This record gives sequence, structure tokens and C-alpha cells, in this order.
Amino acid sequence: MNKAEPSFRESVDLMFNRAVALMDLPPGLEEKIRVCNATYIVRFGVRLRGQVRTFTGYRSVHSEHMEPVKGGIRYAPEVNQDEVEALAALMTYKCALVETPFGGSKGGLCIDPREFEEHELEQITRRFTYELAKRDLINPAQNVPAPDMGTGEREMAWIADQYARMNTTDINARACVTGKPPNAGGIAGRVEATGRGVQFALREFFRHPDDVKTAGLEGSLEGKRIIVQGLGNVGYHAAKFLSEEDGALITGIIERDGALFNPKGLNVEEVRSWINRHGGVTGFPDATHSAEGNVVLEQECDILIPAALEGVISMENAARIKAPLIIEAANGPITAGADQILREKGTIVIPDLYANAGGVTVSYFEWVKNLSHIRFGRLQRRQEEARHQLVVDELERLDRYLGDAWSMTPNFKQKYLRGADELELVRSGLDDTMRTAYQSMSEMWHSREDVTDLRTAGFIVAIDRVASSYRAKGI
Ligand code: GLU
Repeated sequence: MNKAEPSFRESVDLMFNRAVALMDLPPGLEEKIRVCNATYIVRFGVRLRGQVRTFTGYRSVHSEHMEPVKGGIRYAPEVNQDEVEALAALMTYKCALVETPFGGSKGGLCIDPREFEEHELEQITRRFTYELAKRDLINPAQNVPAPDMGTGEREMAWIADQYARMNTTDINARACVTGKPPNAGGIAGRVEATGRGVQFALREFFRHPDDVKTAGLEGSLEGKRIIVQGLGNVGYHAAKFLSEEDGALITGIIERDGALFNPKGLNVEEVRSWINRHGGVTGFPDATHSAEGNVVLEQECDILIPAALEGVISMENAARIKAPLIIEAANGPITAGADQILREKGTIVIPDLYANAGGVTVSYFEWVKNLSHIRFGRLQRRQEEARHQLVVDELERLDRYLGDAWSMTPNFKQKYLRGADELELVRSGLDDTMRTAYQSMSEMWHSREDVTDLRTAGFIVAIDRVASSYRAKGI
């Protein structure tokens, strides 16, 4: 990495500073908002395969202007304090921008999950949960983790169960973590949420023809050439929805072991199942393969979606990036130095604090659902009732038609309806959130001469909200 390149944490601070320089915050408040309140580092031992292994974990709390604080837990070998603090800070600004009533936090465990059996991961996760929960770093009212890189529904279910065992009289125990599987207190549409949010963000961007023109593009998402870096949960869902529902072409996919390129468009499902079967993209037919994956980042395309790690677009390669529009599906994929290079050459960046906020938005729905103890959407359902009846009728017709070939139990029907209902509510709530947040960001961008990019606009809107909440309640 280039020596002049700041660390991830410094990068986020530089972006913050760029925004506050254009604001009029009372002295001292600026620093109070910028700094990370606390980072807890824990080392704990777990006996595995007859030997004690020591693990290092982190939970950083950036801002408690609203509680609980919120943010995922990442499992990766390179997790460190600088990274979790940067990610926690981004959570503060992200939540403020999309108006989920949380402060920012983030956690991580230094571990390569691929090295462990499932039951070992469960043991490690439960022990990590114990360490965090006994310090209220997992708690439905104070700190609510969620999935991030290397974790998913399975880990969240273990965390929820461990917390509930430690707090048997807490009726709200389930709300201690989000991203749980639907049958363990989760909500429909959480797994796809971040990718879905990226799709909704791009749709909203393309509803603003002037913004599209500023990026040197025109028209709609239909036929746009997209390169995706990382086909994990976020990249996969974003690429899938954009190609299947908006007619975009996924011309490049970059993965750990190399990249695929096909100007006619790659089939995302096929690539994903190839990766699942072969462990990487190597050998996938119908595409040009490049062993040096990151070269594909620099290929010509309309939209670039970095959806994996931070810092992939740095001062080293930023000048060579050809995409006129980049949407940050990952957290921090563009360093502060690279951001400046991209701005100078006119690249439009839809920033992470907005672009990947779909995850925490749906986490918020899940948390509310857990606290209300009512199925999500029950109260809002009346309007939907009529349409639901149509679905019931349709299912009954289908049942009669298929007869013995498919016997539909009333239970299944219930489940089907419940799923459809909740999923639709989640998606429309997410869509609303992504539209409103884009509008506040783009209004800030266009209404002030000195605000020249969407990231700075997003930061100003977010910081202003955090500052108001400090002002309202005192520090
Ligand atoms: N880890 C996700 C993020 O970076 C989701 C956080 C959450 O749902 O709390 O935004």
C-alpha cells in the first residue's frame, strides 16, 4: 500500500473533516462526534481439538447519541482495532442518514471461519457472545449486533440463544441481535437487504436525470454494463436483482481467485453456483478469465460495484478506474486519497454510508418486530387484506388443480401468506427509506455550491442529525 495512504480509520475521519469544514458546528462538538467513544478488546480461550486456542475480539462503540448502538460483527483474520473503529464510525453516519434511531458500533473477531467445523464455530461464537453480553456490549437496549463479513443468520441465531440463556427473564431478549433466521425471531428479506438496498439506491439515482447526466450516463439501468467486485451476500444479491429485474448487464465479476469478464453479460446464478461447487470462479465457461482479478476493476463499464473489502480503490489504482459511476456496496472500498483522485476526474461515487444502508434499515424493522412481539405488518395489514384474499383464492385453486400431486396443508398456506406479507412490507419500507435518504443527500449536493460530491453531502446531512440530537439532549 502507498505510504501516503491513510489507514481506514483516518480515511473515514478525513471524509468527516471535509464535511464539517463546510458546517457551522459549535466548538468542541465536532471532535465529540468524530471520536470513537470506546473500543473493548477481549482475548478468550476455547478448548478445541484437545487444545486451548486464544481468540481476539473487538466491539467498538462510536457514538451513543442514540441507543441502542448498532452494527455488525465481522469474522475475518485481518480484523483489527483501526478497522472496527472505522466501521463503527460509518455505522453512526449511516444510521443518521437513513434515520434508523441508533448510534454506531461494530465488532469483529480475528478468525478465518473456513478453518473451523460448524460446532467449533458455535462454541467460539457463544463464548464471544458471553464476553460481550456480560459487559452490555450485546443488549437489546444498548448494543445490537448484526451480520457482517464472515457471519450470517447462523451466527446470529447462536448469539440470540446465548444471550437468552444468560437473561432468562428478559422478555425482549430476542431483540439483542438482528439478522436472525426467520424461524428464530428474524424477519423476511434481511439476508437480501443490503443487496436490495444497492438496487433501490441505483434505481433512485436513475430517477434523477441530472445526476445521471453528471456521471456522463443517460437513460435507465436497462442495458448498463456493471462490474461487481465480490460475489458474497451483498454483491450477489445486488448483481442478481440488477440483472434479473432491471435489465442491467453484469459484464465483470471479481472474486478471490480471479475475475470473469463477458461483455454480453454473465448469469449471476450460474456464477454463484459455480463458486459454490468449485470454491472460486476459475474454469467458469462462457467468460474471459483473468487470474489478476483487480485488473477487471479497471475495465470499461458504466457502473462499478465494489462489494467486498475496504480500500480496494486506493491512490495506486484510482486514476485507472474507468467507470463513470461507482456505488460503494462495501464499507470503505474507496480510500480518502482515491476519493480525491476520483472527484478530480469527475467520477460520481454513491457513498457507502448511503449505498449499503439497506442492511441496517431492515435490521431496524427486525428489532421493532422483536420488541413489539407482534408479527411485522399485522397492524398495517388492512389495506393488503383484499389483495391477500386473492392470493388465498389463487392458492386454493392451485391446490384443487394439482390435487394429490401437491397437498397444501393449512399450515403451509399460513406460512406462505405470512412470508409474502412480511417480505413485501420489508421491501417497500426499504424502498421508501432509500428514496428519502437519496433525496436528502442529493438536495444538499445541489443546493450548495461548496458541496461538490454526494459523499460530502451525505456526511453533512448525517452529522447535522447527530449534532441536533446531542444539542437536544445535552452531552
Ligand atoms: N453489517 C451491516 C452494515 O455494515 C449491517 C449492520 C446492522 O444491520 O446492524 O451495515
